[in-house]
Amino acid sequence: MVDAHRTFVIVGAGLAGAKAAEALRSEGFRGRVILIGDERDHPYERPALSKGYLQGKEERDSVFVHEPSWYARADIELHLGQPAVHLDRAARKVVLGDGTAVHYDKLLLATGAEPRRLDVPGTGLAGVHHLRRLSHAERLRGVLATLGRDNGHLLIAGAGWIGLEVAAAARGYGAEVTVVEPLATPLHAVLGPEIGRLFGDLHAENGVRFHFGARLTEIVGQDGMVLAVRTDDGEEHPAHAVLAAIGAAPRTALAEAAGLALVDREHGGGIAVDASLRTSDPDVFAVGDVAAAHHPLLGTRLRVEHWANALNGGPAAARAMLGQEVSYDRVPYFFSDQYDVGMEYSGYAPVGGYDQVLIRGDAARREFIAFWLSQGRVLAGMNVNVWDVTGHIQALIRSKAPVDREALADPSVPLASLVPGEGA
Ligand SMILES: Cc1cc2nc3c(=O)[nH]c(=O)nc-3n(C[C@H](O)[C@H](O)[C@H](O)COP(=O)(O)OP(=O)(O)OC[C@H]3O[C@@H](n4cnc5c(N)ncnc54)[C@H](O)[C@@H]3O)c2cc1C
Repeated sequence: MVDAHRTFVIVGAGLAGAKAAEALRSEGFRGRVILIGDERDHPYERPALSKGYLQGKEERDSVFVHEPSWYARADIELHLGQPAVHLDRAARKVVLGDGTAVHYDKLLLATGAEPRRLDVPGTGLAGVHHLRRLSHAERLRGVLATLGRDNGHLLIAGAGWIGLEVAAAARGYGAEVTVVEPLATPLHAVLGPEIGRLFGDLHAENGVRFHFGARLTEIVGQDGMVLAVRTDDGEEHPAHAVLAAIGAAPRTALAEAAGLALVDREHGGGIAVDASLRTSDPDVFAVGDVAAAHHPLLGTRLRVEHWANALNGGPAAARAMLGQEVSYDRVPYFFSDQYDVGMEYSGYAPVGGYDQVLIRGDAARREFIAFWLSQGRVLAGMNVNVWDVTGHIQALIRSKAPVDREALADPSVPLASLVPGEGA
């Protein structure tokens, strides 16, 4: 069928969806492109919601993927504030909340993820917050400012990236902050105990209190207000507001009801896709936080919940929808900023998957690169307040070659010289 008569539908108007729509046009697709989103805002990027925007340093306008007028100019039909509630694969149609049925020739699911909820008494109190949407960040920004002004106390459940970034923002407003985390160090699942501990130290130095090895059992409140939080070791912590930052769950409901293959929760969840981001239905693709893709480089299936994966995966999915050969094998990458510490992480090294953590540089001054190795091969690398090294770190990971560990730990040896084929 000629392109101009085909309709490509994208469900999920976040970064991955918007970038896929953009790529369909830049690749020359002349048919209809319909982008459906349940949020009322135009597609936006989320990283600033726990950083610059939350801190009051960045404007609301700075988070949008494109300016609103871009969509009409690119001939993208936007349906905002409109959830897709049903997917009928046999009839190739998506049904929206208002009953409108939208036909598709190819469909992309870019439905992202949603915050996991605490399953304890008191979780419905108005003072309990989550952070995923712009509207959440707007609300939380006001809460942090009030807590800072009144010497109030924010209790954060979960010492992952979002929990820690909000802790840093809250300290910036002058609020008291306690973080409750069941494991022994922050960021345990991603960084392991060795490097996670360094982030714990950073926050402790900035006045954050940690309560490790404990879980919330109850949020105590009155008239919607939070008064305190109880943990399973019998302690009670003062709190005027709570942030539940205990991870996100992929939004797979539409795919599941339509009978698409999923990955079970113990293996990370998500819609199962191959390396070309195609689901178990050849006309349906999935990308971004919701997709668990086979990763050709890592040889495993992975659901990556990071900005760069949405940014680059969206266009890759668009190309696959157009019938191009796609093998999406970008090295997983993410970044974070907390206080005066900026970092970038490349690769994949889950706890139990590496046998050595090697530091290059000065960890005490927080200017270093950490490498996670297995049998002398670099699985992942994280540069902390060291810049312009991501390309070399990713090349080391891609090479899968054993590396000279002494040279790797020595900042005077150029990283490029350790990458096979790049060295002098
Ligand atoms: C506060 C915060 C800070 C972050 N900071 C960083 C960072 O510093 N670095 C980093 O690498 N990553 C960061 N991330 C992660 C990054 O933002 C995500 O990986 C990225 O947003 C994923 O994009 P996506 O398009 O796949 O999903 P999303 O951004 O979640 O977009 C999916 C969209 O689809 C909509 N949707 C879902 N179901 C339906 C439906 N049935 N019908 C219609 N619409 C639907 C959703 O409402 C949403 O608007 C952060 C995330 C958050 C929440």
